[in-house]
Amino acid sequence: MSAASPDETAIGRRAIDLRSDTVTRPTAAMRRVMAEAEVGDDVYGDDPTVNRLQSVAAERFGFERALFFPTGTQSNLAALMAHCARGDEYLVGQEAHTYKYEQGGAAVLGSIQPQPLENEPDGSIALTRIAAAIKPDDVHFARTRLLALENTIGGRVLSPEYLREATRFAHARGLATHLDGARLCNAMVKLGIDPRSAVAGFDSVSLCLSKGLGAPAGTLLFGSAAFIDAARRWRKALGGGLRQAGVLAAAGLYALERHVERLAEDHEHAARLAAGLRALGLDAPAPQTNILWVKIEPADVAALRAHLGAAGILATVGERTRLVTHLDVTRADVDATLAAFSAYYARRGGPDR
Ligand SMILES: *Cc1c(COP(=O)(O)O)cnc(C)c1O
Repeated sequence: MSAASPDETAIGRRAIDLRSDTVTRPTAAMRRVMAEAEVGDDVYGDDPTVNRLQSVAAERFGFERALFFPTGTQSNLAALMAHCARGDEYLVGQEAHTYKYEQGGAAVLGSIQPQPLENEPDGSIALTRIAAAIKPDDVHFARTRLLALENTIGGRVLSPEYLREATRFAHARGLATHLDGARLCNAMVKLGIDPRSAVAGFDSVSLCLSKGLGAPAGTLLFGSAAFIDAARRWRKALGGGLRQAGVLAAAGLYALERHVERLAEDHEHAARLAAGLRALGLDAPAPQTNILWVKIEPADVAALRAHLGAAGILATVGERTRLVTHLDVTRADVDATLAAFSAYYARRGGPDR
């Protein structure tokens, strides 16, 4: 990690921050709607802006209800706890956020056993693996209750055909289905499909407003009325009952109206960045959405990180470097990043391949 902050870089200008799409800051127009939002106490259900966001989003995604959460981690956890009781089990990918990047919250706080399964190179979980992992009704075993998938996963888009098959299969075996759709809008825009098609087959979906959509905080959880009632109870127990949350919900509404279609720009920028890195001789496969991966030789990791930092570029540099484009990354930023990579490799005579 670089020591530079986004506002103060070694070269005295705004940093180019490619660490994540969580770093986006509310635009001036978004801040205006936040400042003017009508608010009330959302624990009492009194916040008109939260209520409007929830009903607009539920209608758009074709669910009975939606519920606003402070974070995606909490939304996923409340969803898992609403689907599974103590001693139940959920099937989940080894690479999934809910399994790998949430401190095992389902087990720690929900008494839910995860059954992690290998992800295929495209991010899916093979139906044969799912079938083999479902436990029979036997006192020795946890009760397998839920299949949880993630889309996009590491920037990869799961195909609608796969999602249809996997959710049908899960339902046929008596499992519920949850989608961690933190970046679902990126998948929708990439495939050119509508929100309802993107969530088809899922009993619940979690969608982050605070990633590429550019809101400062907030995640929506979708499901049936009974499911959302249960999730709302868990949200309170998990410390997520917010009061005048309308200031955040206003940003979420604005993001859903104004920042979905533009995700295509982030995808274009990521593709341009990857193509430029390949032109330098680096191994950087064409990304499907706004996340690209580039291989860096172990001997270059520290020096490249320092070089980029000195050029005002914040990036998580490692042997598998992840670069993320978003609302606050312009085409000029992409070109400046390519220039910095180019200067680094020119000095050292090109990457080893
Ligand atoms: C970011 C993210 C979440 C939730 O993250 P929070 O930081 O808790 O909002 C969940 N799943 C995926 C795939 C994510 O990328």
